[in-house]
Amino acid sequence: MTYTPMMQQYLKIKENYQDAFLFFRLGDFYEMFFNDAIKAAHELEITLTSRDAGGSERIPMCGVPHHAAKGYIEQLVEKGYKVALCEQVEDPKTAKGVVRREVVQLITPGTMMEGRNLDEKENNFLVALTEFQGSYVLACNDLSTGENTVTMLNGSMEDVLLEVHALGAREIVVSSTFPTDELHKLTSQLKITISHEDETDVPEELRQLVSHLQDEKLMMAVGRLFCYVLRTQKRSLDHLQPVRMYYSNQFMKIDVHSKRNLELTETIRTKEKTGSLLWLLDKTKTAMGGRMLKQWVERPLVNAMQIEERHNMVETFMTHYFVREDLKEKLRDVYDLERLAGKVAYGNVNAKDLLQLKRSVQQIPAILELTKQLESPYADALVSEADPCESLAELLERSILDNPSLSIKEGNIIKDGYNSTLDEYRYVSKNGKTWISEMEQRERQLTGIKSLKIGYNRIFGYYIEVTKANLGALQEGRYERKQTLANAERFVTQELKEKEALILGAEEKIVQLEYDLFVELREQVKAYIPKLQLLAKIVSELDVFQSFATVSEEEQFVKPQLSAKREIFIKDGRHPVVEKVLNTKTYVPNDVWMPQETDMFLITGPNMSGKSTYMRQLALHAIMAQIGCFVPANEAVLPVFDQIFTRIGAADDLISGQSTFMVEMLEAKNAITNATKNSLILFDEIGRGTSTYDGMALAQAIIEHIHHHIGAKTLFSTHYHELTALSGQLDKLKNVHVSAIEENGKVVFLHKVKEGAADQSYGIHVAELAELPSSLINRAKEVLAALEGQEIKKVPEPQKEASTLHDDQLSFFTMAEPPVEPKQTSQEKKALEQIKKLEILDMTPLEALNELYRLQKLL
Ligand code: ADP
Repeated sequence: MTYTPMMQQYLKIKENYQDAFLFFRLGDFYEMFFNDAIKAAHELEITLTSRDAGGSERIPMCGVPHHAAKGYIEQLVEKGYKVALCEQVEDPKTAKGVVRREVVQLITPGTMMEGRNLDEKENNFLVALTEFQGSYVLACNDLSTGENTVTMLNGSMEDVLLEVHALGAREIVVSSTFPTDELHKLTSQLKITISHEDETDVPEELRQLVSHLQDEKLMMAVGRLFCYVLRTQKRSLDHLQPVRMYYSNQFMKIDVHSKRNLELTETIRTKEKTGSLLWLLDKTKTAMGGRMLKQWVERPLVNAMQIEERHNMVETFMTHYFVREDLKEKLRDVYDLERLAGKVAYGNVNAKDLLQLKRSVQQIPAILELTKQLESPYADALVSEADPCESLAELLERSILDNPSLSIKEGNIIKDGYNSTLDEYRYVSKNGKTWISEMEQRERQLTGIKSLKIGYNRIFGYYIEVTKANLGALQEGRYERKQTLANAERFVTQELKEKEALILGAEEKIVQLEYDLFVELREQVKAYIPKLQLLAKIVSELDVFQSFATVSEEEQFVKPQLSAKREIFIKDGRHPVVEKVLNTKTYVPNDVWMPQETDMFLITGPNMSGKSTYMRQLALHAIMAQIGCFVPANEAVLPVFDQIFTRIGAADDLISGQSTFMVEMLEAKNAITNATKNSLILFDEIGRGTSTYDGMALAQAIIEHIHHHIGAKTLFSTHYHELTALSGQLDKLKNVHVSAIEENGKVVFLHKVKEGAADQSYGIHVAELAELPSSLINRAKEVLAALEGQEIKKVPEPQKEASTLHDDQLSFFTMAEPPVEPKQTSQEKKALEQIKKLEILDMTPLEALNELYRLQKLL
């Protein structure tokens, strides 16, 4: 079977882009063929057709018009696919044979520069992962902003998962030999596209971005990243910034589940920002500030000095109210400097973008001046290197029209007075229009036709139009017929042709010259990119601080004090998000009083009383404090936590085939193996997912293990009331409870956390309210009294291996021991299995008897 030459060209190009949709340019369309066509027709809901390609059968085909391609590409990339854009790279008119075509860009989820998928307040990170026996290096790039980072992770793929999740990366680049089962650990948890790149040498033109990195491994990881970016983008990228190295232990570690549970950046149920901590804290005015805030929320600090620096900045912004308000005003007019710089470098900037750039840069001097008024050493240091780029603002002010056209190929972008040649062309073009209208007047007089007019269209150029009724009035020989309409004729004259040549010549020249001037201007702007990127960083940080100050003031947060002695003292603490969304009731504030000698709270109380809210509240306090924000309380003293672990019941527990209980145990294991005494552990109703018996046993063992071996600050809620007796034995454990009261025959939750264990007869109380028969209620009271009478003799000492419980430990619980199953020998098992397999209906009675005899002998 021989395909047409064009189809052969297609197949050859497609060979190199197996994992992408190949958008093959054919005239005004991008066409897709074969499987690409079938899949694209389905994904994009467009019509699948077929075409003759030279072979015996027609081949599947579908296509999209090139002017509408952007939307379709975005749709595919959003779904995690890649699109290879294949253009005609020579003029079809002059081409011999098939027009030469090349892929000019591979668009992938991690390299999207613009479009509706790009949330302006979120980075779009691409990561490259490289393994070096026992360690991983993760290099990261946001092509839209030019940021690059690299970090070494000494642990496992779990650490990689954590990091990739924190970045919110949508695409990961690995070598083609990277083990797929390892990758599965990422893909089972995250929506992420896998790509391959085997080259690890940093490309020559990007060497200066890594010159400060000494480590060979780091360089290789960045090399993989850069090679992939260049290979897919196929152009020079002048906005890429020097690679910033960081260590993951500079930040508080929060595992993926806990982040989701605590709803830091999105809610569990709707996966939306609204309702998350980020949503509450986001009072930023710029897209850049929004992105930085998200990065901060994802990465709370662990260095007390850095944290306090941030708190002090927030305080400064709170005390300088007017400076802050003025600053907000200015920030409102600052567009996305980082992404604008990216577009300039990438070459897809238009005149409107440059106007935004001008407008933004014009705000900078005032912003720097306002920052000085804060009189803060930190703020002074922040802006010390800033260059306000006044010459850039001046250049753009002089060059770009106030209302330029969107396309850079249609003129109408450059101001008068910027370029003298352009001014000359414009003079001709403008006068030409006057000439035309003068000529129209003259022709009317000459012919006496009042309705005569001179018009213009793209195909015929300028023409004189005369209605059919007036044709007789035209002078013979002077008018050359050009076009006939239903009731009019169009003509040209010699004079009109001459003027047309002049005018159109000038207009064409204007368009071309404006384009050239724009490109030149773009090159000039390129030189400012590093300065703009620095300004972007400064603006982002100021924006985040004003956002923290604004929300802290509006929501009445307080500056936290950091304790070096592992103390937690929170007075009247609130859960900021629950408080915000409670509209009918007011939030009941609660204290957390955990001096050095108290590590654990065992929290009891009925369902819906507020136990898990209380636990989440503490975690959010810790996170808010460590990202540098104030916290929702009247007073707050907190240690710096190195990690937070949570096991809080949530709807999204159902990961691939694991039972909720298994997930619970895995998370408990994660906490127990990784927590230190500087960590915070929140366990909500651990052990609920199994029978009372071993649930309670596990809960106790876990509490003891944390108490004796880890010493992390821990909140542990439980409905096993029996566990409250542990406080007698475990000196760092305290009971607290959330109570409920009865009011007018209804249970009212007070949401108030108090010292001591909950009232055990609460359940009976509710049963009474539900009007169960009084005889039944009385019986329940009797049973309860009897159970309470069986005082707990002793809390067993923890074992070294806390996971194995002795038999006598079980007697601690006031229940009967389960009957012991008699053990089976292997022979017995075998006999049973054989019985199971018998096809009794196919056997004669004698055969059955024989079989029974044989089986009996086995035993
Ligand atoms: P539990 O974990 O005890 O079952 P939750 O913490 O889930 O209870 O709280 C149940 C509901 O009670 C929450 O959805 C919230 O609306 C409300 N709530 C919890 N704590 C408070 C509080 N301190 N003040 C006001 N309402 C609260």
